[in-house]
Amino acid sequence: MSATTFEQSVDQERLLVTRIPGPRSIELMTRKTGAVAAGVATTLPVFAVRAGGGIVVDVDGNHLIDLGSGIAVTTVGNSSPRVVEAVTEQVAAFTHTCFMVTPYEGYVAVAEALNRLTPGSHRKRTALFNSGAEAVENSVKIARSYTDRRAVVAFDHAYHGRTNLTMAMTAKNMPYKHGFGPFASEVYRAPLSYPFRDHGVDGHAAAARAIDVIEKQVGASNLAAVVIEPIQGEGGFIEPALGFLPALADWCRANGVVFVADEVQTGFARTGDMFACEREGVVPDLIVTAKGIAGGLPLSAVTGRAEIMDATHAGGLGGTYGGNPLACAAALATIAQIEDDGLVQRARDIEALMLERLTALQAADNRVGEVRGRGAMIAVELVEPGSNTPNPELAKSVAAAAHEQGVIVLTCGTHGNVLRFLPPLSISDDLLNEGLDVLDVAFRNLG
Ligand SMILES: *Cc1c(COP(=O)(O)O)cnc(C)c1O
Repeated sequence: MSATTFEQSVDQERLLVTRIPGPRSIELMTRKTGAVAAGVATTLPVFAVRAGGGIVVDVDGNHLIDLGSGIAVTTVGNSSPRVVEAVTEQVAAFTHTCFMVTPYEGYVAVAEALNRLTPGSHRKRTALFNSGAEAVENSVKIARSYTDRRAVVAFDHAYHGRTNLTMAMTAKNMPYKHGFGPFASEVYRAPLSYPFRDHGVDGHAAAARAIDVIEKQVGASNLAAVVIEPIQGEGGFIEPALGFLPALADWCRANGVVFVADEVQTGFARTGDMFACEREGVVPDLIVTAKGIAGGLPLSAVTGRAEIMDATHAGGLGGTYGGNPLACAAALATIAQIEDDGLVQRARDIEALMLERLTALQAADNRVGEVRGRGAMIAVELVEPGSNTPNPELAKSVAAAAHEQGVIVLTCGTHGNVLRFLPPLSISDDLLNEGLDVLDVAFRNLG
């Protein structure tokens, strides 16, 4: 398919009518500083008024190219017409009853869709929540309840959220954890497979290294769950070497440990598969989803083996808003759009385009240490010229230059030296190329 089949109410053109940020955004930033807690930071201080396709329009009338999707959320585009229609119909019917008080069909239909779409043909159940962090927390509750074990293993560079338990599972101190402890106990960290920095350690050897740490420092019989992002998000778009994930999943199965895939960032066509686990045929016991699930409405889920999901006592899972009817309507429209419009393939086409452009950049610039990722989840790791030393200053400067030119890009990585690209799948090839042109110029100007 071509991205032109997306209906657009927003002009699909980069347009700068003021400097970035413009005067009205600057005014609003002053109000933000006066009203909003300082801890809630801003990547790009322009205030949005409309968005769709591959464009975000700001209060000053600037049209910015969106290579971030609000952090991998608006996979089907902002205000995708199908999502708007479904939510509009639902908002007029009813907005909330609480699924635990009087249930409604939308929640059940989302659960059925997730049970059908997630890897593995075993019997499954789903529970819905509001945020990625909340769903990760619930996956741990479920795994502990099923195994009657307490320990949880997460990995180097992991990101699982900002609540107390998920802060403990997240690796990076600043800004996610600093000053916010004490953290939840019984969370242990294992080494990841990180091909760019692993000096030839292959996936099987990296898995053996992680399993050795787990067996020696935790003990399989104490371990409820291993929680891992199949491709790490905030940690730097790190894709473990082939063989790493299957070996870990096999070890978990052999030891009665629940294998949890945190696909909050990688799920829903983002990586050129419906779920990133599928690439190596890994079938997680539990899979955690959020971000791309509902076209921008807050929704998250835990889906998994029926016997694990059903081990929790009645009333043990839930929440006032979990599986809100508007979010469920949005999720059903989002899932239908991904399937009907062939968006998994669209993500693969975006991958081909981006890898070609970024590989050419790498060949011309020895500060690009590695180009990696899959689908519409692509990154470049920046280093000091010709070395492996992280270069966060360059990542920051390139991002700032792109922002000034009306291109939204994000950085990530434990060292802050990774530029990451998460375009909506509704972006056109032309806009994508133009965004990459702006980046090429930024790299050259910062030479
Ligand atoms: C964003 C993210 C989370 C947390 O999701 P929130 O909705 O922000 O709570 C958890 N895991 C991964 C892999 C993420 O990318």
